Amino acid sequence: MSFETRFDRPTAEVIGDPVSHSKSPLIHRFWLDQLGIDADYQSCHVTADALATYFAARQDDPHWRGSNVTIPHKLAVLDFAEDRGDVKTSIGAANTIIRGDNPNILIATNTDAAGFYAPLSHSDLAGREALVIGAGGAARAVLFALARADIGKVTLMARSPLKAMALLAALGVKGEVIGFDAPLPPADLLINASPLGMAGFDDLPTFDLGRLPDHAIVYDLVYAPLETGLLASAKARGLETIDGLSMLIGQAALAFELFFGVAVPADSEAELRNRLMA
Ligand code: NAP
Repeated sequence: MSFETRFDRPTAEVIGDPVSHSKSPLIHRFWLDQLGIDADYQSCHVTADALATYFAARQDDPHWRGSNVTIPHKLAVLDFAEDRGDVKTSIGAANTIIRGDNPNILIATNTDAAGFYAPLSHSDLAGREALVIGAGGAARAVLFALARADIGKVTLMARSPLKAMALLAALGVKGEVIGFDAPLPPADLLINASPLGMAGFDDLPTFDLGRLPDHAIVYDLVYAPLETGLLASAKARGLETIDGLSMLIGQAALAFELFFGVAVPADSEAELRNRLMA
């Protein structure tokens, strides 16, 4: 695979295999356009065996600002970049690579946990109880963020109890693991970090959301569909809900600032959401 083409202006991109499904180009170009910045954001199909060639070529290109990283490279890219924030042992993956002050050095980071937390930042989670569904990569970023927010007990609902227990232990989170047949614990925060409810996947079991307190927040990381069955039930129960686009936009906003050195425009999220749903 050749990556010889040089960019003609500041450019960041998303790499993955596959990568054509990524919504990152739409999101970043929207912000570049809103801010009137003469720069671009592209997507680049990179296979695992081409990662070294890819980074060597991009490092030689003065216009390259960095890359977002999607499946299956979120761990492999750590072989090519310094892991100054220790994301490998904490969040377990990198989703953003940027240049260091020394252009010969690449730096890996992860904006997923902060992107997840952004819409919760108005809530005081200290000592609260959370239920997290799923024990994969997204759940790991969620648990990392919850631990940082000083969450109290976390119940992890997962189909692989050993994997889920190891995840709690790895992130130093107090809690327990339950199966999908267990009754819903009375959590202040319920987060779906599994693909259940996503188009093409089974639905989540029907939970009795009446067990949640009135102040509970229900957060579904799934964004296709945007209103999952879980969020529809939570709204019907009168609970605060947060959908998966909030995290998607939140993690992208942090990466945008790292790539282009400016914050994303305030008050443009509604229009961006419309574009993403079109
Ligand atoms: P992942 O690493 O593959 O993990 C998925 C987790 O869900 C695993 O724990 C898996 O169980 C569990 N799971 C999968 N199918 C299941 C089933 N049929 N029954 C019970 N459990 C099942 O995936 P991920 O990266 O964590 O992503 C999870 C979801 O979050 C996806 O829908 C993804 O689109 C979404 N997500 C959204 C954002 C955002 O910005 N909004 C960001 C990241 C992810 P095992 O451990 O037993 O395999």
